[in-house]
Order: sequence, then C-alpha cells, then structure tokens
Amino acid sequence: MGARERALLLDAFDSNWVAPLGPHVDAFEEEFAAFVGVPHAAALSSGTAALHLALQLVGVGPGDEVLVPTLTFVATANAVGYVGARPVFVDAEATSWNLDPALVAAELDRRAAAGRLPAAVVTVDLYGQCADYDPIVAACERHGVVLVEDAAEALGATYHDRPAGGFGRVGVFSFNGNKVMTTSGGGMLVSADADLVARARFLATQAREPAPHYEHTVAGNNYRMSNLLAAVGRGQLEGLPAKIERRRAVRARYVEALGDVPGVGFLPDAPWGRPTNWLTVLTLEPGVAAADPTEVRLHLEALDIEARPAWKPMHLQPLFADHECIGGAVAERIFATGLCIPSGSSLTPDDQDRVIAALLDRLVP
Ligand SMILES: *Cc1c(COP(=O)(O)O)cnc(C)c1O
Repeated sequence: MGARERALLLDAFDSNWVAPLGPHVDAFEEEFAAFVGVPHAAALSSGTAALHLALQLVGVGPGDEVLVPTLTFVATANAVGYVGARPVFVDAEATSWNLDPALVAAELDRRAAAGRLPAAVVTVDLYGQCADYDPIVAACERHGVVLVEDAAEALGATYHDRPAGGFGRVGVFSFNGNKVMTTSGGGMLVSADADLVARARFLATQAREPAPHYEHTVAGNNYRMSNLLAAVGRGQLEGLPAKIERRRAVRARYVEALGDVPGVGFLPDAPWGRPTNWLTVLTLEPGVAAADPTEVRLHLEALDIEARPAWKPMHLQPLFADHECIGGAVAERIFATGLCIPSGSSLTPDDQDRVIAALLDRLVP
C-alpha cells in the first residue's frame, strides 16, 4: 500500500460513503474497465463471487457440465458447483501450463457428436499468463459454447497485445491479498455486454427489484464491494504497471541466477503474450536436479523463506475424487516438479539474493 491508496481511502472514509456503493465504486469500475479494455465492469466482494455470478449469468445451471482446467486454484471449480453444475477437468499444455486447446477442441467435437455439449468452458490465466485463446475461442465458437475467463491471477497480462479478461463472454478478476494488486479482498466481473453487467450488479445486491418496498423475484447474493475498498483499489490500479514490472524483473533475476543449474527449469513465458509473472515457479527435473521440490521447500523453510508447491490439480483433490479428467499427466508432472518461490513486488534485491543463495546451496551439488 502506498500514499495514494491512503489518500483515497481517507477520502472515502471522510465522505462517510462506507456502504457497498458510492463514488469510489463507480470510479473504480470505470477505471478498471478502461485498463482491461472491456466496456463494463462490476466491483464485487471477491473473485469467487465474480466467478459464481459469471456462471449464473451465462446460464449454467443444475445438471450442466462445464470444462475447467484441472491445474487451477479450487475457487474456479467450486464456482461450478455453486450453480449446481459439474466440473469436467481438462489437462494443461506444457507451454503456458494453461488449458490445452487441442484437448478442449477434441472434447467439444466428441461431445457435439454425442449430443452432450458442456454448458460452458472456463479458462484460467495461470500464474499471470494468458491461455492460448485463438484456438480455444475458435473451438468454443464452432460449437456455440460460451467461454468464461478466470483472469484472477493475470490482471495486466496480454495475449497478442490484448489484455487478459476480455476473451470470454465474461471475465473475472480477484483483488485478494495474494494477487499483484489487492483491496485486501475483492473482485471484478467484466463483459462487453452492458445488460449482463447490470444483471450482475442486481444479483450482487440481493436481487432487489426497483420498488420502494423490498421486492424479490429471484434469489440474489450480497456480493458488492465496499466503497472503502474500491478507494484502495483505485490507488492500487494506478500503481499496478510498476508492480508488474517488479514481478517481471524478479523472475528475470531468478532465471539469470539459476537458469544454468542442472535440472532447474521455469514456468515458460509463452510466445503469445506478455505475462505479469505473478509468481515465479521453478521446476526440478527428477533424477537431474540435486534435490526435489519438497527437499528444497524444507531447506528454504529452515531459513525462514517461504515456498509452496504448484497448484495441486483438481482431479487429484479428495473433493473431486469421482470427477472425470481429460488427460491429466501434464498437470500431474507440474505438481510433482513445481515450486513457487518468493515473487512479491516488494521483494528487495537483498532478500532475493538470500533466496538465490539458499537455492544454489541446495541445488548445486
Ligand atoms: C485467487 C483466485 C480466485 C479467487 O479469488 P478470490 O478473490 O480469492 O475469491 C479464483 N481463481 C483463481 C485462479 C485464483 O487464483
């Protein structure tokens, strides 16, 4: 947080607009929509809330199936369950670790022939990098299947110069404390469809009909963002480009320092865009690297340096034990070999030196 966030937050506080509506919410939505190049945006209480509304708004409901990448954070898959539908997991590809377009296209063809197309496809822009949208969008359009983009981890990334969040009918972002920009907790839903976004705001405010009394025809949720947090979000958005540059510089420095160590690899920067490098993720090749991810993680932990495994694929989660997965070997390999290392935009050069020294200590035999 910086001086700008503080000033905007105090402005919201002093204005006494402390409700989940107010001038900072309106301004944040406008500024955010301009930043991601999508005409309409609704500020919400979390990325998870935005995903829930997105699926509801594109018409996913009870009994439906939805294709979801297996390599993601659990919120993506849970949202499918919130609307009564069932996630069908699809493996990642090795170039960006995102949804494999060839598997999506083949699965849609197969399901079209069988007369059981999914109600939607959800893409995730993992670790700050866009999925390969040209073939995914083409496959969805060919079969008339709606696309929802979970861009929670990729605000500010691009795909062929187009910003993340604008590739589906609806795009979703998160401002949780672990993301590149944060409102402590919050989310945003974006779409080119003005009516859809108006409906999102309606459903997010308990679906209260425009009547002087409390009139309800459908069940809504309490999902709007507070004006106080929207003020913080405006300040964070101004500082976002600089934070992204820091994340990219952090990754570049790790690659320079560790790129030649035997068995060490990185989540690749795919050729189709500019990632934000939200997290730098190492891979340690079994039998070649001097240590496995668990050994390295525990070595770092002993030095008070936090590292975490890559996302555990959804098809390996007890929660989804009985769910179908199309492929899965790529995501399993990423989980077995991946390690997320300190990547914050406030990581100082000295701290990064300390992380690099600790990694070299364990990985150079
Ligand atoms: C963080 C995240 C979410 C959830 O966002 P919240 O704001 O924490 O609810 C959803 N999907 C992905 C891929 C995420 O990383």
